[in-house]
Amino acid sequence: MRLVFAALIAALIGTLITGTALVLLLVRREARVSRLQADFVSNVSHELRTPLTSISMFVETLRMGRAKDPEQVSLCLDALARETARLREEIERLLDWGRMQAGRKVYARRPEPMGPVVQEAADAMRQALDARRQQLTVQIPGQLPAASIDRPAIVGSLINLLTNASKYSEEGMPVELGAAANSHSVRIWVRDRGIGIPPSEHRNVFKQFYRVEDRASRGVEGSGLGLAIVRHVVRAHEGHIELESEPGRGSTFTIVLPAIVAPAEGRQES
Ligand code: ADP
Repeated sequence: MRLVFAALIAALIGTLITGTALVLLLVRREARVSRLQADFVSNVSHELRTPLTSISMFVETLRMGRAKDPEQVSLCLDALARETARLREEIERLLDWGRMQAGRKVYARRPEPMGPVVQEAADAMRQALDARRQQLTVQIPGQLPAASIDRPAIVGSLINLLTNASKYSEEGMPVELGAAANSHSVRIWVRDRGIGIPPSEHRNVFKQFYRVEDRASRGVEGSGLGLAIVRHVVRAHEGHIELESEPGRGSTFTIVLPAIVAPAEGRQES
């Protein structure tokens, strides 16, 4: 009888401990989520405010007639166009993410030869990389197959990875964009020699709002949405994304998409 009683008490204590541990775990998770959300709001506000500040500065310069000659006016207008585009892109990204969350994001997929798709992302990024003296090497084999994709979504994902490769690397460090294929899939990778990501963070970086909190990435602007969006896009294409990275040595993000088995006809660029 005493033994049964002791066993009951032990079971009760065990349940209590497990229950308490579970509650603590949930509370910690909730706290982490609300901290991430608060950080997200402040990061997004910052990302929107930066181009807005530039826009009002250039508008003010023009309004006050401080741009003295046509060349200066043209420089101001170029800057206004650039900052407005940046603002529009950021807002589009937020709206896109909202659609993904609501399950309303529609992907218009059609067969596309992947060579020109990869090249499009490279061309779109070249100027931004040049501005940081980061040399972009592009390796696209001649016979890259086609894949069934929403072209703007995949090009946007590659641009996202290239933007990260640039901003998490020092000025002057090279960035590589490459592609390869086997009989059933196309692999597209973006490699940098930047600050890298510790192994314990490899899963976290794909979570929405998540930003690695280390000294090296502090001060780099971002909302923590980029990789979550890329992963969503890639999964919607029945693909996946891989990450190899070491702190201090750089990172390689690889998007893997199912290939359309027959090789694509036509020109492949490199
Ligand atoms: P962010 O807007 O913060 O750049 P992302 O979702 O694109 O958001 O990336 C999440 C986090 O992953 C970043 O805050 C950064 O810490 C880390 N990260 C992403 N890409 C790289 C990279 N190429 N090199 C090092 N760290 C990276």
